[in-house]
Amino acid sequence: MATPLRVLVIEDEERIRQFLQRGLSYEGYRVDIAEDGPSGLDSARDNPPDIVLLDVMLPGMNGIEVCRRLRAGGDLPILMLTAKDAIEDRVAGLDAGADDYLPKPFAFDELLARIRALLRRIQPSKPDVFRFDNLELDTGTRQGRRDGRTFDLTAKEYELLELFMRNPRRVLTREIIYDRVWGYDFGGESNIIEVYVRYLRQKTEAGDHPRLIHTVRGIGYVLREPE
Ligand code: CA
Repeated sequence: MATPLRVLVIEDEERIRQFLQRGLSYEGYRVDIAEDGPSGLDSARDNPPDIVLLDVMLPGMNGIEVCRRLRAGGDLPILMLTAKDAIEDRVAGLDAGADDYLPKPFAFDELLARIRALLRRIQPSKPDVFRFDNLELDTGTRQGRRDGRTFDLTAKEYELLELFMRNPRRVLTREIIYDRVWGYDFGGESNIIEVYVRYLRQKTEAGDHPRLIHTVRGIGYVLREPE
């Protein structure tokens, strides 16, 4: 199965907490919950999340201070949940390093859209052409090239090859590949990865070029120099 993205919710109001936990879990996120500032910081340290939803008015330590401390530890995306008209909370939150805020009450769909936007924003920017050994992947034309021979790629072949090119020499587990290329709602028991790796091998190895996408038995695949 896919490895879900992890959302940490730091919110003292039980009704909102339960609503977020249920809704985000249903959307496929792994949800961690904290009821106050200090336990939120502990949770972020022990189980690093991909994004934090952070209430402002919290017992123990307010959300602004929690935000400042989380920000000091890295560039984790932080979405503040602010009171409806508390403009000063928004400003303080942004000043403390929050990436965005959402006034309560909010529509769940809007929350999801903000989360997706923040998670997209932290993706590293793409170079125009990835290169590994004598293989190239052009992010503009979405074509591959090896030793001067250009080949076309279907949408999924492109995504899979880009994942390999972004992670050279790193073993990618089947779970990671499912997660990044096919998304969460894909059942894990199919041989779709094998099928697409075979397609990519046919294209990248045409003309007797040696293998670059290697099988790591029982785990997944790795883009590595020919053996
Ligand atoms: Ca609160």
